[in-house]
Amino acid sequence: MKYLDEYRDHRIARALAAKIVQSTTRPWVLMEICGGQTHTIMRYGIDALLPRVIELVHGPGCPVCVTPLETVDKAIALALQPDVILVSYGDMLRVPGSRSDLFRAKAQGADVRIAYSPIEAVKIARSNPDRKIVFLAIGFETTAPANAMAAWQARYQGLTNFSMLVSHVLVPPAIRALMVSQSNRVQGFIAPGHVCTVMGCKEYEDLVRDFHVPIVVGGFEPVDILEAVLMLVRQLEARQLGAEVKLENQYVRSVSYQGNLPAKELIAEVFQIADQKWRGIGSIPRSGLRLREEFAAFDADRIFDLGEITVEEPAECISAEVLQGLKKPPDCPAFGIRCTPENPMGAPMVSAEGACAAYYHYRRHTAAS
Ligand code: SF4
Repeated sequence: MKYLDEYRDHRIARALAAKIVQSTTRPWVLMEICGGQTHTIMRYGIDALLPRVIELVHGPGCPVCVTPLETVDKAIALALQPDVILVSYGDMLRVPGSRSDLFRAKAQGADVRIAYSPIEAVKIARSNPDRKIVFLAIGFETTAPANAMAAWQARYQGLTNFSMLVSHVLVPPAIRALMVSQSNRVQGFIAPGHVCTVMGCKEYEDLVRDFHVPIVVGGFEPVDILEAVLMLVRQLEARQLGAEVKLENQYVRSVSYQGNLPAKELIAEVFQIADQKWRGIGSIPRSGLRLREEFAAFDADRIFDLGEITVEEPAECISAEVLQGLKKPPDCPAFGIRCTPENPMGAPMVSAEGACAAYYHYRRHTAAS
């Protein structure tokens, strides 16, 4: 297949669904990691095409959803400082912190600006030498090269008024944390294709070996998801007969084994691996990135004295269980009643990639529908 239409062709999708039915002999719980994949599943009703015994659960792959409340609160506190311009990707502005969000801070007079690329924040810093520019640098491995380039460019250009509030997360340690959890139900993973476009498939091999769990790197169109599900089901059924599971790459049109080597080198030059708190999940060892010592002059956490911020999630929000595949959004008593995209209680309802927003948007008001 060459064209996007073909990856949305209902005849190809139905043929794959029929193969999945033929291949399935028992229940399997599969997790798609990425919020973009969750939205495709909801939008095209892919779960409804599958045998009822195959359950798709939704993983922690929405960057906005897993950004800690503390980071949102820090961004708001920085934005409210009179000499600061806070620059952020647009979908972070409505994410609720513990008491407010960046939109409300903007309404109170804070200078909050939306950027489509971190390099825009570098340009804002160059044009406003008398202001302090802070870029809210969040995301998975996908956004890490551009964020690394922003810090690299700021140093190259000798900027002294640019910094980044970094909250970067990494997918493989999150899968490891899910697999070692006592409550884990997931038997196979669809790994996120865009992350692997940067990092390659290679780093998922250890997970397959350590946990005997099949992983298929998948794309984002309906045919991609169905083909990835078929590959997982065939592996899981074969495992019952004694076969070894393996890492497979469904998204071959974008993902290579090694990934994008120049991008990986840039990430490694600017960032180092660190423990990271994930909203709703808690701290996961070596699951994040922070700026290296050589880039400390661009680290907002070190430049600004924000003190230690600790906050509690709203008690009613079950996003932690949703992000770990233990519950579905409609299992939450607040879903669609007290929590809506207009009035979100938790990040999975705010973000365009959040599982709660996907269920709400596509009118899935029951977990089984
Ligand atoms: S519906 Fe709202 S309150 Fe419930 S888990 Fe999702 S974000 Fe949290």
